[in-house]
Amino acid sequence: MMALGFFNTYSRALEEFSPRDPPNVSIYTCGPTVYSNAHIGNFRAYIFEDLLQRHLETRGFKVHRVMNITDVDDKTIRGAREAKISLTDFTEPFKRRFFEDLETLRIKPANEYPGATEPRYLARMIEMIAELIKSDLAYQAEDKSVYFRINKFPNYGKLAHLNLEELRPTGRVRSDEYEKENIGDFALWKAWDEADGEVAWDSPWGRGRPGWHIECSAMATTLLGDQLDIHCGGVDNIFPHHEAEIAQSEGVTGKKFVRYWMHCAHLLVDNQKMSKSLGNFYTLRDVIAKGYSGREVRYALLRVHYRAPLNFTFEGMEESRQALARINKWLERLRETSGSASPEEQRAPVPNNDFQQALDDDLNISGALGVLFESIRETNRAMDANELGPAAAKAWLQWWDGINQVLALDAAETLALPPEIEALAEARRLARLAKNWQKSDELRKDLNARGWEVRDTKDGQKITRRVGPEP
Ligand code: AMP
Ligand code: ZN
Repeated sequence: MMALGFFNTYSRALEEFSPRDPPNVSIYTCGPTVYSNAHIGNFRAYIFEDLLQRHLETRGFKVHRVMNITDVDDKTIRGAREAKISLTDFTEPFKRRFFEDLETLRIKPANEYPGATEPRYLARMIEMIAELIKSDLAYQAEDKSVYFRINKFPNYGKLAHLNLEELRPTGRVRSDEYEKENIGDFALWKAWDEADGEVAWDSPWGRGRPGWHIECSAMATTLLGDQLDIHCGGVDNIFPHHEAEIAQSEGVTGKKFVRYWMHCAHLLVDNQKMSKSLGNFYTLRDVIAKGYSGREVRYALLRVHYRAPLNFTFEGMEESRQALARINKWLERLRETSGSASPEEQRAPVPNNDFQQALDDDLNISGALGVLFESIRETNRAMDANELGPAAAKAWLQWWDGINQVLALDAAETLALPPEIEALAEARRLARLAKNWQKSDELRKDLNARGWEVRDTKDGQKITRRVGPEP
């Protein structure tokens, strides 16, 4: 069996992973376009990338990850124009909320978050476009915009597995996103037009702005060099975005741009892609407002293999809640059992690394979670039969610590209660102080009805979210 392997979109095959300069691994991930709050479909992509990074790290690799922020493109410009504010004023709050959401979902921060409008990247874009013109891979058209000449780049279409002869590229495309049927020379630099308003920079080809694709090529090569180990995104990025990134980057450097292309399948709603344009999306904030925690959303988005479509439902959220409750109870039990371990007993070996081995196989998370729940079942059975000693319980806790490096699903939730629950809890605390037991009981019932459990302990009342029966 292969030690560690990933499915490479470029070859459409599972390949053994071997980075250029081990143990270092460079990863570039296309980040959000900050024209609205990211939806949980977007976060499925970022959680898959987080799983990838964390697993590589447990396997001893040193990951350097860059995630760009697309802060100028067709969509952000339209948004700013409609809101009648500057582009930066428009994108800033979405950027801030995006970082908050990453934290809620326990996604490890990237090493860098370059923004397309930063001067050093704009300079690099212009430099790359000039190179491409010099080698005849790009040209300025009558509309003053600069386009990439796709029939001069023999590898064009290799990533998306396009048959250019069948598709017969015709004409040029100025917009950032288009279908395979509209294939053509794509825009590197878009000459200013009225719709751009104040959004424009000077270039050797006149005032204008970069196309979305050249932004990523410039940011990636500036920060990670000409050759990257891994480039990720959702499957919708394959064409035209990543196809264009290859053409631009390799057109300039003459070197293979990316060793492993990894793409996650979409998050679906009623079996359709969750997307802004279809209007069938939930933001993370929408789901949190329904009473779910970041940890629960993380689990729900993580639990299905990244290359399999995942249909989002609130039943799925409930299942996730129950799975996590199960983990919580198991950990509590292990902690109780391990409590009396004597120092020499504490040296029991960590049970196995089946979890990590499952992930070695193209991040097979369902297999890995299968290992976790099977282990929970077995150790629970052993604890029921009084057959699991303190040292073994301790070893299982260590085992959990190991896999939790990847899962990031520990219960330590510093989650604030929703405001209305906080208010009821506070009212109940005051009622108890005043020894108004009737009111305290009513408030407990109210909290129960809203799905919250109240326990009175010697340290005061504890409010937890009520969980369903164990599966
Ligand atoms: P965008 O902000 O549209 O550029 O998308 C940011 C990232 O989210 C890209 O990597 C997309 O491929 C990914 N993405 C968008 N919609 C979905 C979805 N429904 N499921 C999974 N990933 C998605
Ligand atoms: Zn990109």
